[in-house]
Amino acid sequence: MEFDLLLTGGTVLSLAKGAAPIAAGAVAVRDGAIVAVGPAADLAAAGRAERVLDAQGGLILPGFVNTHAHMAMSLLRGFADDLPLKVWLEKHIWPAEARLMNAETVRLGSLWAAVESLKAGVTTVCDAYFFGEAVAKAARASGLRTVLTEGLLDFPTPACPTPEVAFAKQTALLERYRDDRLIVPSVAPHATYTVSPEWLIREAALAAEYNVPFQIHLAETRSELEEIRQRTGLSPVAYLARLGVLSPQTLAAHCVHVDGADLDLIAENGVAVATNPVSNLKLGSGVAPVLEMLARGVRVGIGTDGAASNNTTDLLRDAQLMALLHKGLSYDPTVLPARQLVELLTVGGAGALGLDDRIGTLEPGKRADVIVMSLTEPHTLPLFDPFAHLAYAARAADVRHVVVEGRLVVEDRQVLTVDEAALRAEVTAFAARVG
Ligand SMILES: [Zn+2]
Repeated sequence: MEFDLLLTGGTVLSLAKGAAPIAAGAVAVRDGAIVAVGPAADLAAAGRAERVLDAQGGLILPGFVNTHAHMAMSLLRGFADDLPLKVWLEKHIWPAEARLMNAETVRLGSLWAAVESLKAGVTTVCDAYFFGEAVAKAARASGLRTVLTEGLLDFPTPACPTPEVAFAKQTALLERYRDDRLIVPSVAPHATYTVSPEWLIREAALAAEYNVPFQIHLAETRSELEEIRQRTGLSPVAYLARLGVLSPQTLAAHCVHVDGADLDLIAENGVAVATNPVSNLKLGSGVAPVLEMLARGVRVGIGTDGAASNNTTDLLRDAQLMALLHKGLSYDPTVLPARQLVELLTVGGAGALGLDDRIGTLEPGKRADVIVMSLTEPHTLPLFDPFAHLAYAARAADVRHVVVEGRLVVEDRQVLTVDEAALRAEVTAFAARVG
């Protein structure tokens, strides 16, 4: 058998249901897909590889899945901090976006976030922003698997003067990328407090027609809860349920301010949640009841949110903090054990995006999104349990190789797909212009 690529010699964590780690294992890739997973000696005997990547002293595992981000906001990293969400958005972020964001800056910011993400082991990002075609260019150039859209609000966005225009651009993205291998188009009305019920219903119908994710910010802050309750007499979740827009295609970002009845609605409608622990903490929004969601069987993925509110796209950091946070708040160290946390980072995130038939585990037939993490530094030795190291000790900088859709995009911590030095100069020039 001929392989395009063989990642070999490391401990394989396939994340397949019930699968144990394979010491001295290997993963073989052909035509963008995983074709074999097993002991390195068996795979070496099974075929010849055009390219061999050494993973000795490391882990071979599925790439991390970031279920909620605004990649272009990497250009606004550290631009406005230590403010509540409403003031931060209305007085700082939205005016800055209107002034600074265009197709070119969105391409640049998205590409910069893609480089940051890939180097941190993230192989899929679910993005919600404006100028969706510019985000697609960044996805294509970097090789990052990207869920993207054209954000829709009732009022003008940097890209669209009206929701009609945003809807038309979303539809064009759905048509253009419906069978794409790397890009997954989606529908994204911003939130309950910025999009009218008529548009929420039209958006849900569009997502259903194309069978794509319906992304929305939901129950993020206390002020959103109060505003929607005042307007409708309902919680944000109950309001969307009454509109009939909740379904298994719904990917609700945040869900911090939800009660038991809201959680029941989320579970009954098969809604997936993208939880953003660092962003919610930094904006003082609160802590999402992730344990209650998981207890109800809700699909949960982890997200970083934009780099203006996180302030990085290092998903591993979000996951590690989330585990500690819920152990502490519940006075129970047994919750969110290490293996479950790594599942949420990989196959759980893929499931929340409805992509777990394609990515999220290392199994023959799945697309080849694979990372190698090197665990030979002082902070990761000795190694008794690889899951424990991922949950409590490893860092993004331990990511050594990254493969997306069978393409080697990071080798020995160097991004191969884009000129990082040239990009760094462009980002620095942008900051100098903004002053
Ligand atoms: Zn967001």
